[in-house]
Amino acid sequence: MTCEEVRELAGAYALDTLSPEESRAVDEHLRSCNLHEELVALRATAMLLSRGTEERDPPATLRARILDAASAQRRRRAARRSCGRRRGTAA
Ligand SMILES: [Zn+2]
Repeated sequence: MTCEEVRELAGAYALDTLSPEESRAVDEHLRSCNLHEELVALRATAMLLSRGTEERDPPATLRARILDAASAQRRRRAARRSCGRRRGTAA
């Protein structure tokens, strides 16, 4: 599994909704790669919260925040690409 694949699965991994095979593949990648500290922290938080409540699913707001954080990197990359186009358009 590549870093890019891990990022694609980050939200589902943090919420522990991956298939056992995918989850194991991500675990293996994280053991040999230090570039996903955010993801590890997110998952730890999600695990902690879901363990502390009766329900297995984390609250919808947390789910949204995690999915948001997981896609933020992708958005940041896209923003960097289109940055130059913004110049000269200020009214
Ligand atoms: Zn990686």
